Amino acid sequence: MDNTIHPKQFTARLYDETRRTFACRAVSRRDFSLWSDVARPALLELLGLGQIARELGEFVPSVDLAPEAEAFPGYSRWRGMLHSEPGVDIPFWLLEPDGPGPHPIAILPHGHENFGMDTYVGIAQDEAKREKIEREDRDVAVQAARRGMLAIAPTTRGFFPATIPDERTRHGGQHCRSYALHAALAGRAATGDRVWDMMRLLDWAIARPDTDASRILAMGNSGGGMVTTYLAACDPRVAVAVPSCSFCSLASREGHLHHCDCNLVPGILRWGEFWDVAGLIAPRHLLVVNGAHDPLFPLAEVDRAVVELARLFAAAEVPDHFAHRYGDGGHRFYKDLMWPFVEQALSQACAATSLGIG
Ligand SMILES: [Zn+2]
Repeated sequence: MDNTIHPKQFTARLYDETRRTFACRAVSRRDFSLWSDVARPALLELLGLGQIARELGEFVPSVDLAPEAEAFPGYSRWRGMLHSEPGVDIPFWLLEPDGPGPHPIAILPHGHENFGMDTYVGIAQDEAKREKIEREDRDVAVQAARRGMLAIAPTTRGFFPATIPDERTRHGGQHCRSYALHAALAGRAATGDRVWDMMRLLDWAIARPDTDASRILAMGNSGGGMVTTYLAACDPRVAVAVPSCSFCSLASREGHLHHCDCNLVPGILRWGEFWDVAGLIAPRHLLVVNGAHDPLFPLAEVDRAVVELARLFAAAEVPDHFAHRYGDGGHRFYKDLMWPFVEQALSQACAATSLGIG
């Protein structure tokens, strides 16, 4: 028997644009501001961030650093641990640039890779990995620290060593899916849990005397780009966001999904599309980078999402705070596209804060 569900017809109704409660339809700065004032709290709730906070009890998140750092040219590297929730410890690397500061902060969630925090600081287990890191600009924490930023490379929940493993291979052997399903059963989302971790690390970094809270960058590739976008949407402390190889529609016009299951936020398409999430970053700065030869995302869908996102930045009356760039390659970082935008945007963020218009 043929399939008795007509996927195209059904998904068109399932993802009906008119049912998106917080889709941004603003055409003026005032309307945009009114929209973001209600859309952001609703997104935080949908991500489960309110639930996490309410269920913490007496627990207060905290951070420990190893007693000693390792010295590298231009920075020192510390091993750290975020005690994020009862029973949830999140390891991270902290790269502290030489010099007194105050330093801008870079928070750099990684994508689909076990022990991905090592990649971001340039630790490779073999020569092939070392070449890949070099060729694909993947040591972003080192790049940030050498630009004078206090760089945090955390573990992204769902990957070793911070996951609920798929021990019985019921979930395709993918630990990120296993983690996400466990979270969803309790009304949470892996994406929200990841954002929670990043926000708690920012709490800690901002409280350090050597940091400048007006200059915070969030940047990540792939799954790390998804965390970057949701984090910057939720947390107005982030001044500049650079999601790499992750921005696209959540569902294509044909009803196809592009992202890994672990990025799925239950109910999100009744809230809005991914451009509405990213739109919450305005009036702050956002650079979206995609690989022109990234097989995960159809370029027509990327372009469609970019047009919608540009419309939101125009409504916020900061069209020049948003840029989209294609790198001439695959699913990777493009440092030559990213850093000029970041440095320019951070200098503006600093000026805006000193003028009291942040
Ligand atoms: Zn995943």
